[in-house]
Amino acid sequence: MRVSTATSSRSDSRVFTVVVQGYGTAQARNAERSITVPFVRLQTVMQSISQLGGKVLSVTPCSEAPAPAAAKPAATKPATTKPAVSHADVPVNLYKPKDPFVGSVTENYSLLAEGAIGRVNHITFDLSGGDPQLHYVEGQSIGIIPDGADANGKPHKLRLYSIASTRHGDNLEGNTVSLCVRQLQYEKDGETINGVCSTFLCDIEPGAKVKITGPVGKEMLLPDDEEANVIMLATGTGIAPMRTYLRRMFEPAEREKNGWQFRGKAWLFMGVPTTANLLYDDDFNRYQAEFPDNFRYTKAISREQQNPSGGRMYIQDRVSENAEEIFTWIENPKTHVYMCGLRGMEPGIDEAMTAAAAAKGLDWAELRPQLKKAERWHVETY
Ligand SMILES: Cc1cc2nc3c(=O)[nH]c(=O)nc-3n(C[C@H](O)[C@H](O)[C@H](O)COP(=O)(O)OP(=O)(O)OC[C@H]3O[C@@H](n4cnc5c(N)ncnc54)[C@H](O)[C@@H]3O)c2cc1C
Repeated sequence: MRVSTATSSRSDSRVFTVVVQGYGTAQARNAERSITVPFVRLQTVMQSISQLGGKVLSVTPCSEAPAPAAAKPAATKPATTKPAVSHADVPVNLYKPKDPFVGSVTENYSLLAEGAIGRVNHITFDLSGGDPQLHYVEGQSIGIIPDGADANGKPHKLRLYSIASTRHGDNLEGNTVSLCVRQLQYEKDGETINGVCSTFLCDIEPGAKVKITGPVGKEMLLPDDEEANVIMLATGTGIAPMRTYLRRMFEPAEREKNGWQFRGKAWLFMGVPTTANLLYDDDFNRYQAEFPDNFRYTKAISREQQNPSGGRMYIQDRVSENAEEIFTWIENPKTHVYMCGLRGMEPGIDEAMTAAAAAKGLDWAELRPQLKKAERWHVETY
C-alpha cells in the first residue's frame, strides 16, 4: 500500500484520495474504489475501512493524484454517458403572467382526515381549449395568479405550485392538472393572517376560472430509465411531485396509458405531524400491497411517534434509522433521490445524510454535489 500525505500545506482543508478494495456493499466489494476524504476525517475513514475488512491500497493528496473518473466511487458516477433525465421534450413557460391560460376548477376537496392540523386540498383544473394546449410532465410546477389586488392596488403576483397529477391528469384524458395546496396561516400581532393565493385556492368552487402560468421547472424530472431506483423525501405538500411519480410507476390505468413499465425500486419517506395529516395515504398503501417488491413507504409522524432519543419522529430520524440501506441504494448509479417540502426540512436531512455517509466512509459534503452533477440528487423546497 502506498500512503502519501506529503504536502506543502498543513491546513485542514487538504483532501485525500483513498483507494480501497474489499470494502462497501457486496456489489462494490471486489472492485477497487477510490474515496475522497478531507484530512480531518482521514483517520476515522481508515479505521472504518479496516473494521469492515477492507484493504487500503493507497492514500494520496487530491492535488498530487486526482482520482481518474473511472476510479470514483460508484455513487458518484452517472448511470450512463447520456443525461440521466431527458430534458429535451419538457415544455416550459407555454403561458406567461402577462397572458395566462384561464382554466376552470373541476374539483376541490380536502385531503385531510378528521382531527388533522390545518387545511390541505386537492384541486383540479380543466386545461382544455388552450392554444397552445397547456401540457406538462411529472415533476414540474405551474403558477397561479390569484384574483384581486395587493395592498398597492396592483394585481397579485403568481405563486408556484408543484403539479400533483401525471401528464395524463387524474382523469387520464390529458386535459387537466391537479395541485396539493396547504392554506398558509400564521399569527401576527394577535391576528390570524391567511396566505393570499393558498386561501384563494383552498376556498375556490368548481366552475370558477383561474389564471394559470407555466409549466416551469426541470429540477424534479424523473429519469427515463424504467429500472431506476427512486428515493423520495417529502414533508407535507412536498408529496405533490412524489404522487405524480408514484402514479406513473404504480397506478394501473396510468401505467397502461404511459407505457413506462417501471421495474426499479421506489422508497417514499413521508413526514407529517399527525396520522390525519397523511396525504394520499390510501393510494400509497395500495401500491405497497400491490407492488411489495418495488415500493416501500416509511412514515414519520412527528406528534405521534418517538425517535430513538425519545423526541418527536421527524423525516430525518427515519433517514438516520435507514441510513445503511439508503446509502447502499445510493451506491447504485441507477438511484435518484428527490426531496420536496418546506425549506426547513433541508438542514435535518443534510445532517442525517452526513452521518449516514460517514458511517460508510463517505463524505456527504463531497458526494452531494457529485450526485447533483450526475442528475441524481433533486431538491425543490420552498
Ligand atoms: C417551486 C415551488 C413549489 C411549490 N409547491 C407548493 C405546493 O405544492 N403546495 C403548496 O401548498 N405550496 C407550494 N409552494 C408555496 C406557494 O408557492 C406559496 O408560497 C404558498 O402557497 C403561500 O402563498 P400565499 O399567497 O398563500 O401566501 P402569501 O400571502 O404570499 O404570504 C406569504 C408571506 O407571508 C409571510 N409569512 C409566512 N409565514 C409567516 C409567519 N409564520 N410569520 C410571519 N410572516 C409569515 C412571508 O412574508 C411570506 O412571504 C411552492 C413554492 C415553490 C417556489
